[in-house]
Amino acid sequence: MTHPSDIAFNDQADAAEADLSRILAATAPQLLGDQAQDEEPAPWLTARLDQFMTGVEAGTVQLCEHLAHATGPRPAFGVLGLNRLGCTQCLHAIRPEDGADYPCDRCGQQADLVAPGIVHLGTVALLILECDPCASRTE
Ligand SMILES: [Zn+2]
Ligand SMILES: [Zn+2]
Repeated sequence: MTHPSDIAFNDQADAAEADLSRILAATAPQLLGDQAQDEEPAPWLTARLDQFMTGVEAGTVQLCEHLAHATGPRPAFGVLGLNRLGCTQCLHAIRPEDGADYPCDRCGQQADLVAPGIVHLGTVALLILECDPCASRTE
């Protein structure tokens, strides 16, 4: 038998996920450019995402104070390479700084990063940054 609190939790997770999709649809173009994508992650990316989510559980990914103290699932946004997650109120804190150099999420080179893509992991949306050569690789 399903415990009533599990049902409530699942409802909240569904609501958080719906929120996330709505917010992304509204803010992703302004925040991240208009290249938001909804494709299956490539194998290299799946491995990186696993690492990231493990980090969330292990506490090595920095959460905003709201997420850290949340009592239920909330939409969360982050940048894969920055190991940070923020809620909707903290989008400014998770956004890459203009002009800052970040390593490519795929090869680790510091470069001008292009082709932002967004992957969704349940209630988490992560921005992926890649260098030009990586972004144009097809595999
Ligand atoms: Zn927050
Ligand atoms: Zn690269």
